[in-house]
Amino acid sequence: MRSALSKPSEGASGLTGMWRIKRPLMDSERCKMCMLCWLYCPEGTITKRKGGKLRIVYEYCKGCGICAEVCPSKAIRMLRRERGAADR
Ligand code: SF4
Ligand code: SF4
Repeated sequence: MRSALSKPSEGASGLTGMWRIKRPLMDSERCKMCMLCWLYCPEGTITKRKGGKLRIVYEYCKGCGICAEVCPSKAIRMLRRERGAADR
């Protein structure tokens, strides 16, 4: 039986990173690990690394900015992506 609430899996909408015009930058020093960004990200691109810190999988991030909006610690900033610039 399926749950009434579900979270999309990483990259559920395919590779969306190519057409993104802004990208989120996470400051792990400010992050309080409340997991709101993980909960609200519509693409499921925010995941936990082995050490416990969060990371954003840019290949699937569409730059919607929801993660930055919901972050209570202002730990995520949306940066304009320069044409042809690398994500990392
Ligand atoms: S901008 Fe944030 S909320 Fe939007 S897809 Fe990227 S990681 Fe997810
Ligand atoms: S919403 Fe902000 S404080 Fe909460 S886990 Fe995400 S980056 Fe960290």
